[in-house]
Amino acid sequence: MIKTLSVLFHNGRQFIPDVINASLKPPFRGRPIITNVKIDEKKAVELCPVGAISRNPFSIDLGKCVFCGECSIEFPEKIIFTQDYKLATNIRERLIIKEGEDIPITIDKSQIRPDIKKICKKSLKLREISAAGDNSAEWEMNASNNVQFDISRYGIEFVASPRHADGILITGPISQNMAKAVEICYDATPEPQIIILAGTDAISGGIFNGSRAICRDFIKNNHVDLYIPGNPPHPLTIINGLLNLID
Ligand code: SF4
Repeated sequence: MIKTLSVLFHNGRQFIPDVINASLKPPFRGRPIITNVKIDEKKAVELCPVGAISRNPFSIDLGKCVFCGECSIEFPEKIIFTQDYKLATNIRERLIIKEGEDIPITIDKSQIRPDIKKICKKSLKLREISAAGDNSAEWEMNASNNVQFDISRYGIEFVASPRHADGILITGPISQNMAKAVEICYDATPEPQIIILAGTDAISGGIFNGSRAICRDFIKNNHVDLYIPGNPPHPLTIINGLLNLID
């Protein structure tokens, strides 16, 4: 008995009791803030390996950003990465962070399909599809259900069959070889057939954007219900995004 208690005491409390108000520390990079400090913008654009930085207005697209941090190392007074992990939204344009703005990224609740609110409010089952992912976002999906984050306590689970799912969650840029498989899996899913893109690769193609080895037709032809940025996304980003989606 004493041994058991000492093990429990040693382990401490492992789960995060409040995943909505938990805080993260550097070096985690979350939502960036772009100040009005003047820099060589052309140099910043050229420095970004994935074309996430644009000019007029100066902005960073978190759907493309791989969070490498190069821009903030080169221009520390211009680009500051905060530890705000609430990055998920259902509006693609909200992932574009503009100069001089410090606006939290949120979900537009009026744009959530009524079926999702009605069917998934207390229980959300998702089939995860690794569409040529590099296993990083997939690991974070797994981590979101470990003892620390425990996403299943909110009724959110990843299931083995699309027939048992309310929708699909895609990781990876979707290679040519996986394009048909994504469609077949989606077609096998019953209503409301939610589509969630998790990670930079899934949202924009990431470092593979423009490669002829990937096929993004499925994303172009279907309505995306939730974008979860990150490279890979943090479990707190994933959990908060999904909780907001089902309200
Ligand atoms: S942190 Fe993002 S925006 Fe900055 S250089 Fe890396 S990929 Fe580009």
